[in-house]
Amino acid sequence: MEHSHRYRAYPTQEVAEGLEHHLNVHRQLYNHVRWDYENSPEDDKPTEYDQNNKLPEWKQKWPVFSELHSKAAQATVARFHRNLSDLRKKKEKGYNVGRLKRQAPTEYRSVTYNQSGFNLDEKRGRDRFAYVRFSKIGWVKIRYHRPIPDHAIIKEVTFKKETTGEWFVSFGLGTDDSDLPEKPDVDSLGASNSVGIDLGIQNYIHTSDGKTVDWLDLEDEYERLRREQRKLSRKEMESSNYEKQRRKVAKVKRHIKRKVLDYQHKITTWLVREYDAVFVEDLDVKEMLEQSHNARNKQDAAWRQFTTLLEYKADLYGCHVKQVEARGTTKECASCGVETAKPILVREHSCPSCGFETDRDANAAMNVLQRGFSELGLGWPEDTPVETVTATDTTHFESVSASHVVETGSLGA
Ligand SMILES: [Zn+2]
Repeated sequence: MEHSHRYRAYPTQEVAEGLEHHLNVHRQLYNHVRWDYENSPEDDKPTEYDQNNKLPEWKQKWPVFSELHSKAAQATVARFHRNLSDLRKKKEKGYNVGRLKRQAPTEYRSVTYNQSGFNLDEKRGRDRFAYVRFSKIGWVKIRYHRPIPDHAIIKEVTFKKETTGEWFVSFGLGTDDSDLPEKPDVDSLGASNSVGIDLGIQNYIHTSDGKTVDWLDLEDEYERLRREQRKLSRKEMESSNYEKQRRKVAKVKRHIKRKVLDYQHKITTWLVREYDAVFVEDLDVKEMLEQSHNARNKQDAAWRQFTTLLEYKADLYGCHVKQVEARGTTKECASCGVETAKPILVREHSCPSCGFETDRDANAAMNVLQRGFSELGLGWPEDTPVETVTATDTTHFESVSASHVVETGSLGA
């Protein structure tokens, strides 16, 4: 299982120069690896292993390469071979691919430290900042808005300079499976500790136990994006002002993406901490079904990312997560199973067959929960939410505020 956490970095002037320098030397190394490969006879191309073995010799010949941390240098060799194998795969699929190109300074933007040569100091740095050290370069301050989970192992660390000039540090995380918490026994699952989720149309998510989580408010950000895009459209193409404005637009877009990711991190952590089993709809089908109504969802939410995060955290926190068939979750009555067509504007579920009434999305979420149980080979438990909900007032759903989710989701996650 692989995953990464990305943080904005604030190197001092001096350290930034070091990062730049290393970036440049790694780029030269990459180009040299490429050159060495290209100039080897067709029937004797070097492997990644071969080229790693050539590193000491190259360091002697070109002392500048000795300035690099050895694991980081190996990661750069690995990068070339990964690109090579990606290219090969594309070729096999019938794409017309050329050869790998030399990397110009504008194209080569990141350096990876693999396994060693870095430290993370979570205690150093006030508030939500921390420090990460790159061997042979120095300490870099990062905005540590999302701590790395206890069970995660840092496999590699990458620093990157974006086209905007901003620095980022990302941690490639894995887990040692023997360290993971055990998942609750399947037989212990019931409606009280399990949840079905309807991926939002009205709300961000709607749970089978009647909770709704609101949309992240991105109105200001979108307004800003529209403003910057309007400005860009008035600039002359390829002028320096155009380039400057293009960077501004890219920055706002990235800001939105990061905000959404951060929010999804919090919601998913909240879910796996709150429940022993979480069921969601299979997205491919969901998207097909609701494409026309889903334009906004798709843009903001990136549900695939949400599900990926949820599945990743399932193992990390010891929670069952399953995707279930999405077809018909809205139409089907969660109480009796009879399907009734329901236009998107109809917000209520009112079953003509059994009389069960509830909110449209709650009904869908309950169906997701039921499907989840049958996926796990479990019968429908006694304390079904349908019965709990029918017994009480079905029109009042507890709304979970975004800030509550953020608060719970932030704890140690
Ligand atoms: Zn019914």
